[in-house]
Amino acid sequence: MAKHIFVTGGVASSLGKGLTAASLGRLLVARGLRVTMQKLDPYINVDPGTLNPYEHGEVFVTDDGGETDLDLGHYERFIDVSLTRDSNATTGSIYQKVLADERRGEYLGRTVQVIPHITDEIKERIRKLATSDVDVVITEVGGTVGDIEILPFLEAIRQMRLEVGRQNICYVHVTLVPFIGPSGEQKTKPTQHSVTELRSRGVQPDAIVLRSEGPIEDGLRNKISNLSDVELAGVVNAPDSSILYEIPMVLRSEGLDSFLLSILGLDDVEPDLAEWEAMLARINAPQAKVRIGIIGKYVTLPDAYLSVVEALRHAASYHGVEVDIEWIRSEEIEGLLAAGRLRHLDGMVIPGGFGSRGIEGKIAAAAYSRQNDIPCLGLCLGLQVMVVEFCRNELGLLGANSTEFDPNTLHPVIDLMHAQRGISDKGGTMRLGAYVARLAPRSRVAAMYGDTLVNERHRHRYEVNSTYRERMAEAGLQCSGLSPDGRLAEFIELDGHSFWVGTQAHPEFKSRPNRPAPLFCGLVGAALARAEGRNPQLLPATPAAGALGTEPPGIRPPD
Ligand code: GLN
Repeated sequence: MAKHIFVTGGVASSLGKGLTAASLGRLLVARGLRVTMQKLDPYINVDPGTLNPYEHGEVFVTDDGGETDLDLGHYERFIDVSLTRDSNATTGSIYQKVLADERRGEYLGRTVQVIPHITDEIKERIRKLATSDVDVVITEVGGTVGDIEILPFLEAIRQMRLEVGRQNICYVHVTLVPFIGPSGEQKTKPTQHSVTELRSRGVQPDAIVLRSEGPIEDGLRNKISNLSDVELAGVVNAPDSSILYEIPMVLRSEGLDSFLLSILGLDDVEPDLAEWEAMLARINAPQAKVRIGIIGKYVTLPDAYLSVVEALRHAASYHGVEVDIEWIRSEEIEGLLAAGRLRHLDGMVIPGGFGSRGIEGKIAAAAYSRQNDIPCLGLCLGLQVMVVEFCRNELGLLGANSTEFDPNTLHPVIDLMHAQRGISDKGGTMRLGAYVARLAPRSRVAAMYGDTLVNERHRHRYEVNSTYRERMAEAGLQCSGLSPDGRLAEFIELDGHSFWVGTQAHPEFKSRPNRPAPLFCGLVGAALARAEGRNPQLLPATPAAGALGTEPPGIRPPD
């Protein structure tokens, strides 16, 4: 029977609850336990798909096409397991299910209430993950204890204790210990209040993770232990850490993993963290630095590109270098180019996005990288702007554009998928989740992947218009990866350039610290070559055979 760990948060949001939960997951996986993770989000949106990345950060996409909270990205990167849409439940999705049942008359005339109907559905979502092939389910409750909308979730996780039995469940509460500058003191009062609030909902934490700027004195731990009725060994400290992947080590040195294993009655065998430690050693002793510009619309909130940043870091760690990320607002590109301010970049990423704002800037950045042999990786929208740029400036197709930005363009080089398949209905939904692509055997992308059959996650509506493919290829821009039926362009690459590669997919979602995404490794390798003035052809841009592991084939039939 699966054991459950519930992680709640107190005092303030953005404490790194997700990272704490994910790090705990890594410590359990390192013991050979089969772990899965879940995020319960108290907001009313049915999923984060429609949320503004400015406000909420990136939308993370799972293999099965779930548009989920970015914490799922942390989970996957830390526990190295591909999750599904079931790993993210929002208040909205829970009400949607209950209300649909009510409309179908499934409540047989009874009054539908938060307790028990909403709480039952929450428990159902948690139970759904506790399958026979899972040892531990770690469930993070989003939001902060004390919020009104979190109450049904706290009630549900409280009820779970009786249902699964005390020995199969534990509760971890993550709180903040602020440092008050003028008095030079760390304060425990907010933690006390937060634990009191949690207990008033019937949930007694087994462990408390104290987030703080710097290390916490033992006296304060004692005080919190006493006042919260939590064993001293269960009161642990996780001070701010600039390297996310170090958090498992911090929690381990605090003994949180061993403490929780004893509560759950699981063997505390020695974890195998050798691979993780080797990765940290590479991160901590970089041999060089590369400067990569991210040309985006949401650069004031870097969380909007969280997986891209992490994928760059994974690739940098693979090469043993440090990546210096420069955030470049696409709307400011023209001015920056005129002032020669992008010349120093070793590489750039044009990430995904929606809507026309800043699009001309992205196109200008793509042109600059192509004409100046700066390594450039285009992701989804990034690929699309590279194609638009190439068609305008190399094929001379004046005004070429995506119909997303100019529905009346004379040269719709990027168009709705449906239009390409001869379907006139434009009300189509997005292409979401993992799809297989076939790579041209001698292509650069195939060399990077070390394979000709790859499987990456997607989130888009538009595609390269196949009527332009031949002309692009004749001029040097190859569609080097296609959907299995050959209809959709999945990867592009430019002949004779140090690295001008685009993908219609989002390989950043599958990049893991121990298994970096091949295209990111290629980009950072080419950027390193530029930085060192070396010949890019000589560089091992691809992780060594076996380093990437193998992924199961796509779980969706290729279209
Ligand atoms: N807006 C583009 C499309 O819908 C690109 C989407 C993306 O970058 N994820 O196809």
